Amino acid sequence: MTEILRVENLKKSYDGFLAVNGVSFAVKQGELKALIGPNGAGKSTCFNMLMGQLKPTAGEVFFDGARITGKRPREIWRMGVGRTFQITGTYQSMTVIENVQMALISHHRRLYSVLPRAWKLYREEAFEFLKTVSMQDQADRPCSILAYGDLKRLELAIALTHRPRLLLMDEPTAGMAPTARVELMQLVADIVSEQGVSVLFTEHDMDVVFAHAHHIMVLNRGELIADGSAAEVRANPQVQEVYLGG
Ligand code: ADP
Ligand code: MG
Repeated sequence: MTEILRVENLKKSYDGFLAVNGVSFAVKQGELKALIGPNGAGKSTCFNMLMGQLKPTAGEVFFDGARITGKRPREIWRMGVGRTFQITGTYQSMTVIENVQMALISHHRRLYSVLPRAWKLYREEAFEFLKTVSMQDQADRPCSILAYGDLKRLELAIALTHRPRLLLMDEPTAGMAPTARVELMQLVADIVSEQGVSVLFTEHDMDVVFAHAHHIMVLNRGELIADGSAAEVRANPQVQEVYLGG
């Protein structure tokens, strides 16, 4: 399998405190990979460096063979790295499908002067993205009345309009009930296998991680202590120590 993301010796220091201390790993094409670890382990710091939100103190990031270290978020996004946000970024005053249409207009870089035409043009395409996340029945509902889990699925549809080759999801199921967490990640797993997109996500719920992730990495105090299959990670004594509070 081809590598889509490669991270080499990544470091981030906040005023001398090394929140991320020499992290190296790869994500392959079509892989659903989890980054887990206790609160404060450095997961979000890692994600923010991959997305260009934070400048690494040291190290390199390569996306599809191209060096993206220190590039701006917009540039990285344009290259094909998508993401979902911890706080949903939907327009509450618009309907479900209108939010997807807006995303498509942005993706196709339509000018605002042709907005009414583009608007009609993208309705059908938007509907297909809603089908991907099983929200076609809610197309014309205002976002303001959506359940939280539905908002998360809509956000996923919006991220997909950009046709990312790698999707970064920092705690995609935060604030959701356990069953809804499993459902959302099942949906993500289906999209990964159907579309061949790669997904790197962080997650607290171990059931979700072990049920869906192909590979799991464990970060502790800024350092990777495991990177492997669910069975390998479960059997790792260092991981057991961290998670059983040893
Ligand atoms: P995680 O996402 O795994 O919970 P974070 O990446 O958010 O961890 O944080 C890692 C460490 O870096 C924590 O100790 C946190 O307090 C610290 N940290 C995060 N952001 C900043 C910041 N902007 N300034 C200083 N310290 C920070
Ligand atoms: Mg975090």
